[in-house]
Amino acid sequence: MTSRRVLLATRNAKKLVELRRIVDAAGLAGVEIVGLADVPEFPEAPETGATFAENALAKARDAAAATGLPAIADDSGITVDALNGMPGIFSARWAGRHGDDEANLELLLGQTADVPDPRRGAAFVCAAALVTPSGADAPGTPDAGGETPGRTVVHGTWRGTLLRAPRGENGFGYDPIFAPEGESRSSAELSAAEKDAASHRGLALRALVPHLQALLADA
Ligand code: IMP
Repeated sequence: MTSRRVLLATRNAKKLVELRRIVDAAGLAGVEIVGLADVPEFPEAPETGATFAENALAKARDAAAATGLPAIADDSGITVDALNGMPGIFSARWAGRHGDDEANLELLLGQTADVPDPRRGAAFVCAAALVTPSGADAPGTPDAGGETPGRTVVHGTWRGTLLRAPRGENGFGYDPIFAPEGESRSSAELSAAEKDAASHRGLALRALVPHLQALLADA
């Protein structure tokens, strides 16, 4: 059987590791997962969506249109209850410079320094989108709710609390200051397998697997 190439469309190396790990663990027969390094370069569109879903769909749609491959993309972030859900879709650039994990985390700790323990609820949220080349070309905007043929979006949420100081070396982004529900460790102190089993990204990607299987069955 020839395998079908599916693109994991992220420019974030640490996210790519997680996405690849989770999709690989799903054991999809006949699928070869490729990254952006394996396909010709195409320009990165700015993130202009108002929701995680819009941004994930736009990233997957651009990637599928540019490469002719079915593409998976995620948009994710941390939502803090005491900040009315912020940083949310702005998580990657909370302190101003896109992807400066340390500055983002320090700013968030400062902003929540006066928030008492019982009100330190937070969640990681991930929207994961799968777009086929025909779905990418279909008319309509990516915010059409993900119901367009060839475009699917699913969500995963991982609740927990915000810590007061960073702990742990694993993961990335806000992992050192997030303690998942029922866990005394930060998510940066979990093993890769522990994080994948519970995380927003693990939940969303596993919800995408049946859609990927359906897509392959149709091919
Ligand atoms: P984007 O989805 O590329 O816009 O960026 C998501 C941002 O949210 C990352 O840069 C991280 O700051 C944060 N984030 C998303 N998922 C995680 C996670 O699993 N652990 C820690 N931080 C995360």
